[in-house]
Amino acid sequence: MDPEVSVVVPLYNEELVIAEMYERLTGVLEHCGSSYEIILVNDGSRDKTLQMATDICQRDKRVKLLSFSRNFGHQIAITAGMDKAAGNAIVVIDADLQDPPEVIPEMIKKWREGFQVVYGVRSERKGESWFKLFTASAFYRVLKRMTSVDIPVDTGDFRLMDRRVMLEFLQMREQARFVRGMVSWVGFRQGEVLYSRDERFAGETKYPFKKMLKFAIDGMLSFSQIPLKISSAFGMISAVISFIFMIYGIFVKFFYPEQAIPGWASLFSAVLFIGGVQLICIGVLGEYIGRIHEEIKKRPLYIIDEKVNFE
Ligand code: UDP
Ligand code: MG
Repeated sequence: MDPEVSVVVPLYNEELVIAEMYERLTGVLEHCGSSYEIILVNDGSRDKTLQMATDICQRDKRVKLLSFSRNFGHQIAITAGMDKAAGNAIVVIDADLQDPPEVIPEMIKKWREGFQVVYGVRSERKGESWFKLFTASAFYRVLKRMTSVDIPVDTGDFRLMDRRVMLEFLQMREQARFVRGMVSWVGFRQGEVLYSRDERFAGETKYPFKKMLKFAIDGMLSFSQIPLKISSAFGMISAVISFIFMIYGIFVKFFYPEQAIPGWASLFSAVLFIGGVQLICIGVLGEYIGRIHEEIKKRPLYIIDEKVNFE
């Protein structure tokens, strides 16, 4: 029989947290009054994660494992778990216990009340650097202004989805995945629960600055065309400025010819300015075209190397 709740856990080099995560998660799920399955997705870990996950699966048949052939990224790992989830409600949770499993029963309660998506809102974030807190907060607020999709601020991927919502979500097979935005895009009745985001239980973040930046740009570009519009605004502004200079130049030439200096400095800076603006705009175009290129290839999102406890 299919379980009622599926919990999807992406894992990338999480040997230090996987055992504790399993204990705490099952501790909570045993008492939530629903049948459940846990789907571990090993995203090409290079440490003992795979072996430890396989061991857990051998002991507990309610735990299933998908193992990728290499690292495909967090957002794709979540998607793979959902592709195989059998439950009527699907919960996505980080492995590092920053999202406390104890919040899951609250989410299930809201789901039973009729909400089809229940996302966790971080009322507090412990143990993050000020840089991460500042950039994350700024990012969510800028993104909100830039898109017509109502993406809630201060939410991550810790959320519960009804099967119906998940199936609609899974129809979107784009490579540049910004899961939290895509779930908002799908719509349906969305509710929230507040929680305090803990420190990582052990180990280091698997989102170094470069990955974070790519994630943020993916989010911006797949939910907004404002960057493209900003480039035309740049073009417009520099055109107006150069026009004003032109009028001024003609004016000086005719009325004060003795003051008409060769003026290579102003010319030079104008050329540099316009060159700079052009390069920025081409760069923005390039970001979009690069993504079109990724999508057009229609490659599968991920490759599974191993499956455990799936019939
Ligand atoms: N993760 C993953 N693939 C990656 C990077 C991260 O599956 O390429 C997983 C990681 O194991 C964790 C979750 O995604 O379960 C969130 O990562 P992390 O806690 O390192 O991110 P942070 O909380 O620092 O933003
Ligand atoms: Mg984390």
